[in-house]
Amino acid sequence: MSTAVPGTTAVREVSVFGDAIAYFNEAAALLNLDPGIKAILTHPSRQIIFSIPFQRDNGGIEVYTGYRVQYNFARGPAKGGIRFHPGVTLDEVTALAFWMTWKCAVVDLPFGGGKGGVTCDPSTLSMSEIERITRRYAAELVEVIGPDKDVPAPDVNTTPQHMAWIMDTFSMHVRQNTPGVVTGKPLEIGGSRGRVEATGRGVSIVALDEMARLGIDPKGARVIVQGFGNVGGVAAKMFQDAGCTVIGISDVTGAYVNTNGIDAAGAMAYAQEHHSLDGYRGGDKMSNQSMLEVECDVLVPAALEKVLNIDNASRIKAKLIVEGANGPTTPEADHIFAKNGIIVIPDIMANAGGVTVSYFEWVQDRQGYFWKEAEVNARLEEVLLDNFAVLREIAQSRGISYRTAAYMVAIDRVVKSLKLRGVYA
Ligand code: NAD
Repeated sequence: MSTAVPGTTAVREVSVFGDAIAYFNEAAALLNLDPGIKAILTHPSRQIIFSIPFQRDNGGIEVYTGYRVQYNFARGPAKGGIRFHPGVTLDEVTALAFWMTWKCAVVDLPFGGGKGGVTCDPSTLSMSEIERITRRYAAELVEVIGPDKDVPAPDVNTTPQHMAWIMDTFSMHVRQNTPGVVTGKPLEIGGSRGRVEATGRGVSIVALDEMARLGIDPKGARVIVQGFGNVGGVAAKMFQDAGCTVIGISDVTGAYVNTNGIDAAGAMAYAQEHHSLDGYRGGDKMSNQSMLEVECDVLVPAALEKVLNIDNASRIKAKLIVEGANGPTTPEADHIFAKNGIIVIPDIMANAGGVTVSYFEWVQDRQGYFWKEAEVNARLEEVLLDNFAVLREIAQSRGISYRTAAYMVAIDRVVKSLKLRGVYA
């Protein structure tokens, strides 16, 4: 990823993985981590780059690049989504796999961390072209994914349908129905009830818990959500159901702000029908950047990385930031928020609801026994609130941020597994 250096024609390379390591280092210093262990944890176990040749509908052949990074296996099989986006790079996928390692550990799941992606713009592709890319992606990875190896899931621009194609391609190759190879599948082929809503639901569960501690009454609390996909759309609806006033929503087409409140469910129906919020009339249109700076109680970045950065952090007026997206806050912005008394619930805790229900899905697939939605949601709430309470206890007793506390808990759990298993040589 690169950004223009203001006032010049120069371009500054910005490593997402580099930023991710910066957060890790803060917590590692507090844990007095052994340098050898630290070296293991700051190197991905395996990075795979491969070509995806595919046929366009018009008969022409194109070649895209696919990635899968399996960051760490100390606590179990790698786990993490697959992203289809023009901005996908090895650096970004590595950072996302790194975060998955800590996210799974923060909520105490028996998984390591992984992530994948294809550098492509799905808006320029037909469904049959996307299916061919997805199946080729899965076929290239047949030897290294599987229920006990690496379990992908949806991420930006991938859906339960993509997971169905991956599950089918993998099952055809291994000659055995293998629903547990991916999570986030449609219900009919081994998906879990509650999985689609789980990340957004989790965002609202931890946010409401923190709002109670801060004395912010949900009734009338002003909430802004950036990104209106699987995470942002559901989170907005859950905040509204809890009595909050959603005053801003946005997607790639722009932001829509209405201080009297936006009907999140209506906006979701609009976005579903029109495939985006373009033309939505429930709020005044502005840029995504401007919306982030509107005064509110809770700000939920739920789109892409680095949207809260050194350029805008000092103008953010939220009381609480709940990171629905992965990596939306740069380390520089994080320090400004700490200085300004803005509380941040970090991505690896705030959006862990998705991987938690993915874990439930994997368990259900392996048992061939499927739970009712109320049971999934109750277990999700228990996992998130129990582990958030652990972070809060450490953050308060040591006077550190939730982010540093989350990394400390996660690193400690991974290191314990690593030490028990030992370094095989
Ligand atoms: P999605 O594809 O369903 O939705 C992404 C949303 O972001 C869309 O509304 C899109 O229009 C918007 N968007 C894209 N680029 C934007 C931009 N430049 N400015 C403003 N909005 C923009 O994806 P998702 O699954 O909701 O994922 C969103 C974030 O949450 C990602 O960071 C992802 O890694 C993270 N996440 C997703 C899950 C999950 O279960 N889906 C779990 C944990 C974390």
